[in-house]
Amino acid sequence: MESIFDYKLDELTLYLAKLNAKPFVAKQLYDWIYKKRVFDFDLMSNIKLELREELKRHFSIEMLKLKRKQESKLTNKYLFELEDGNLIEAVLMRHDYGLSICVSSQVGCNMGCSFCESGRLKKVRDLASGEIVRQILMIEDDIKERISSVVVMGIGEPFDNYDNIMKFIRIINDPLGIAIGARHITVSTSGIIPMIKKYALEDIQTNLAISLHAPNDELRSKIMKINKAYGIKELIDSIKEYIDITNRRVTIEYVMLRGVNDSLICSNELASLLRGMNVYVNLIPYNETSHIEYKKSDNETIMSFYDNLKKCGINVTVRREFGGKIDAACGQLRASEVEK
Ligand code: SAH
Ligand code: SF4
Repeated sequence: MESIFDYKLDELTLYLAKLNAKPFVAKQLYDWIYKKRVFDFDLMSNIKLELREELKRHFSIEMLKLKRKQESKLTNKYLFELEDGNLIEAVLMRHDYGLSICVSSQVGCNMGCSFCESGRLKKVRDLASGEIVRQILMIEDDIKERISSVVVMGIGEPFDNYDNIMKFIRIINDPLGIAIGARHITVSTSGIIPMIKKYALEDIQTNLAISLHAPNDELRSKIMKINKAYGIKELIDSIKEYIDITNRRVTIEYVMLRGVNDSLICSNELASLLRGMNVYVNLIPYNETSHIEYKKSDNETIMSFYDNLKKCGINVTVRREFGGKIDAACGQLRASEVEK
């Protein structure tokens, strides 16, 4: 059976046309699901009984299963079970400007970055677009509030699941769907260059974040396997090309690993790499995990790295630490459950 959550509005309209239903029926369905949040065809009273029966035969409208939840003041972390028993995570974050959700894009990740818990367990499969959509529906239902932004920064490499990610974006961006503005949607990639080029050409104004984490090939290849396939120079060129095409500012993520990439030399190298580009650097205090030996940089080290970038004229912020106490580095909750 197909999941109704995998369907964009135009796809649903097309499917219904084959059943001789009027185009507005697709809109009614979207309204039940995404506005009224009714996940039962039997309750969709303005849709003809016959058609409802047909929909029930064709579509599943199952939600995800909530397996575990960790709550703190600023973050809720959710572990969801998919229909096939696989586990994924999503995180709710409370910012001063609103609520945001970090969603997973795959079950596990094949990129194998040495510091990352999601990559420690190999990829099992890609997520369908509807499985990503439902992470949002589940969390909104739990908190009884609407979120304002979405980041694709959970488990998985989104550009290794490109088509489903783009479909997910179209579904949540649809004004008749969850209606999250494109400018409030950000996709983070470890740097799969051909997909960055493709993303630049999409006719939708969503944001891009790049996990750079090191200012030279030698260091980056040590902590991110993907750098052996797509080196820094080509990566920076593709980001420049993206900025030229989209006119949008790109976020550069830089996780601060003690004694690895947090020296002033690295800071200077990073500054010269990014000089003149329309980017801003987000310094991420590393979230330590019990299985990986990296440590988080000291606050003073992070601050001098930050000050130095500022001095060099680079836009930079330090990411607030969201719940290091609650297995907040994405992938930790799943890993601890899978390994039980
Ligand atoms: N695969 C994509 C998106 C998911 S990872 C990517 O790599 O960009 C989202 C971000 O979290 C990446 O920048 C990643 O490097 C970072 N990250 C992974 N493990 C982390 C940890 N333990 N502490 C802090 N950030 C981490
Ligand atoms: Fe995958 Fe991103 Fe983790 Fe690297 S940092 S292993 S790309 S999820």
